[in-house]
Amino acid sequence: MKLTKLTILGSTGSIGTQALEIVRANPGQFRVIALTGNSNWKLLAEQINEFRPEIAVLTDDANAAQFRAAIKVESTTLMFGQAELAAVAGSAGHDLVLNALVGFSGFIPTLRALEAGHKVALANKESLVVGGELLTRYVNSGHDRLIPVDSEHSAILQCLVGEPEKELEKLTITASGGPFRTWNLERMRKITVKDALNHPNWDMGAKITIDSATMMNKGLEIIEAHWFFDVAPEKIEAVVHPQSIIHSMVTFTDGSTKAQMGLPDMKLPIQYALTYPGRQYLDTPRLDWSKAQQLTFEPVDYERFPCLKLAVEALAEGGMAPAVLNASNEIAVARFLNEEISYIDIPRVVRHCLESRDSNLEVTLDNLIHSDKETRIKAKAFRA
Ligand code: NDP
Ligand code: MG
Repeated sequence: MKLTKLTILGSTGSIGTQALEIVRANPGQFRVIALTGNSNWKLLAEQINEFRPEIAVLTDDANAAQFRAAIKVESTTLMFGQAELAAVAGSAGHDLVLNALVGFSGFIPTLRALEAGHKVALANKESLVVGGELLTRYVNSGHDRLIPVDSEHSAILQCLVGEPEKELEKLTITASGGPFRTWNLERMRKITVKDALNHPNWDMGAKITIDSATMMNKGLEIIEAHWFFDVAPEKIEAVVHPQSIIHSMVTFTDGSTKAQMGLPDMKLPIQYALTYPGRQYLDTPRLDWSKAQQLTFEPVDYERFPCLKLAVEALAEGGMAPAVLNASNEIAVARFLNEEISYIDIPRVVRHCLESRDSNLEVTLDNLIHSDKETRIKAKAFRA
């Protein structure tokens, strides 16, 4: 088996640590070239001691001295800061970059990696949401430069293998519906941070867990699917499927629908992205089809989940709208987690930023950086 020289951006997070479990379970298959973390210096130091990467980046250098002291290997070059993170993404030495960063922080590293000609396994959906137009310029048809990690997009890719993509008629992205699927509006006014962090099917980082609770996550995924698969927005639909067994579906022009299924476990889509177009053994629980069970579907409810509607509208508007949606949502989620605003204020912050944005801006790297900064200021100042 060919050795894959792998860099993991965001190795201290939920996706990053699961990717390292896959590396650990397959000795001799991967060599870790670079690892990065932001604030969790202790875990990054442990990862360096175990995987001995050539380079490690800690973007938040507040604990740089303790971090250095915890590292027992001498062969790893240590770097600090966002610029170094982006430079490492674009540097030579790896065959594959797994971007498991969260939020806008992932966008420039994705851009730098693609510009440099690297293959990117992308968990950081925000990269495509804010800058899909810029990123996909580096990707020819096919999926061997930019490979999805998100379970829905991995499912779509798995359904597309061997199919003529021009015969694709519709993408159906499934959503668990999150912890508030059955809550009425009255009850939703009193949602606490603890309620929102309690996802029924998936154990993930805090930001995506809140995005799943507001269903903004599904909206971001519709935008992500548009860029990943070059499919028009009107051909992408979301459906609530509470069991999270079908991870998404593709319908072709002859009316045939393919679905990809499995227990909800991110290890599978992470490993598929690391080995694509190959597939290999994964030690994970299997679905037991001999047991009676139900797979059910419900339409999405825009009234109770306005974030999903805002995202669909931002995609239809195009231009900088998805970038504004993303920045305002990142701040709104952080403010909610900080207990500064309530759950139902999250879409209010996002709507305010979308409505007051400059809609004439062209999508360029400078404009994306500028708009991200301005939107964050506005979203922080908004009084719900
Ligand atoms: P986590 O919050 O668990 O991890 C995020 C990683 O990014 C950590 O390594 C963190 O470092 C680092 N990081 C955070 N902020 C910054 C910053 N400003 N600059 C540089 N690095 C930063 O997130 P997840 O692993 O849950 O999610 C990662 C991405 O994958 C997200 O885009 C998410 O939407 C997507 N995704 C996640 C899924 C999941 O199951 N978790 C499923 C599908 C998609 P540190 O911890 O050291 O501070
Ligand atoms: Mg997903």
